[in-house]
Amino acid sequence: MSRISRVELIEFTYEARGFARDSHGALCPHPTAVQHVSAFHLAIETEDGLRGEYIPAHSGKNPAIVPQVAALAPRLIGRDAFAREGIWHALRWSQRHLGAIGLSAIDTCLWDLAGKALNQPVAKLLGGFRSRLPTYASTTHADRFGVLDSKQAFADFARHCKSLGYRGFKIHGWGEGDPREEAANLLHVRQAIGPEMALMIDPACTLASFADALFLGQACDEAGCFWYEDPFADMGTAIPAHRRLKEKIRTPLLLTEHVRTLEAKLPWLTEGATDFLRADPEYDGGITGVMKHAHLAEAFGLDVELHGAGAAQRHCMAAIRNTNFYELSLIAPGRRNPIPGAFMQGCSDELENVGEDGCFPVPDGPGLGVAYDLDRIRHAAVAVRSW
Ligand SMILES: [Mg+2]
Repeated sequence: MSRISRVELIEFTYEARGFARDSHGALCPHPTAVQHVSAFHLAIETEDGLRGEYIPAHSGKNPAIVPQVAALAPRLIGRDAFAREGIWHALRWSQRHLGAIGLSAIDTCLWDLAGKALNQPVAKLLGGFRSRLPTYASTTHADRFGVLDSKQAFADFARHCKSLGYRGFKIHGWGEGDPREEAANLLHVRQAIGPEMALMIDPACTLASFADALFLGQACDEAGCFWYEDPFADMGTAIPAHRRLKEKIRTPLLLTEHVRTLEAKLPWLTEGATDFLRADPEYDGGITGVMKHAHLAEAFGLDVELHGAGAAQRHCMAAIRNTNFYELSLIAPGRRNPIPGAFMQGCSDELENVGEDGCFPVPDGPGLGVAYDLDRIRHAAVAVRSW
């Protein structure tokens, strides 16, 4: 048994240059502004010298996540680092009132540890299905500052992504709840990129009403969208509304990004309220949780689409048949991806990293295949805790 003897959690911050916040607090591009973004690095060590590490690419910027990881960390001490399933269920119980988000980073960190101990990439341990990941470019939210601020700007950026090889383009619009502006933008982008490239739109629950969701859904039909994601302010949780929306539009829906637990996502499939299931290793119980989602969707003959960019997402996608795209989020023209990419090597999520085949690679080093720059992380640290 490899007994867990130490857990370390480092909170750090970094600068995202060329970004501001929109009215919801989401990052959007800006010509000159700089945002300070939060992240965390988690390390789990065993008494026989094994070590796993992980930085979630996206969820760490939400300061509500860190206390949940910290609350669970002491419960790991003394447990077998290879007993991931047992740990997963024990920690889930501890945070059953909170959707058990805190166990997500811990589970992925334990997969990194296992892969390094066995000198194999996580994708191979999961059971490989593919080595190249077809990718869509997923924009930041639109801005009002002169960067991604008009349908012309979106069309130019979409054409640029297409010229780089991307197979799909997903719009995160203005988030101001104007379905007419969002629909006009969507249709303009479709005209600019032609019919072959997959086109998606994610209002991220910012449209005010079901009627607004229906209006934009009809534009999705006209634009031939690949999917329509989380349209309105029910926060993507109302099954009856989305069943009804599906009766009225042809575009497939992608829901359940904001529904926590596998059990709560199940009725979305049984009730026919979504076409694609959503899963994210940063929110849905780590790599173990994502694979449960993939197999749930598989049992329905449906696809699971992974949320967000990052090493954990890549290893999972490599081992799932019933999925379509890697999400290169969140990007905007002329700026670095605002994820903590500068603190790691081996898994870069920049716009220009796409291959000529429109795919991203799966890291092939042991574990997650990522090298973390601990000196740089410690230098940027705002809090260090260990157990
Ligand atoms: Mg989304």
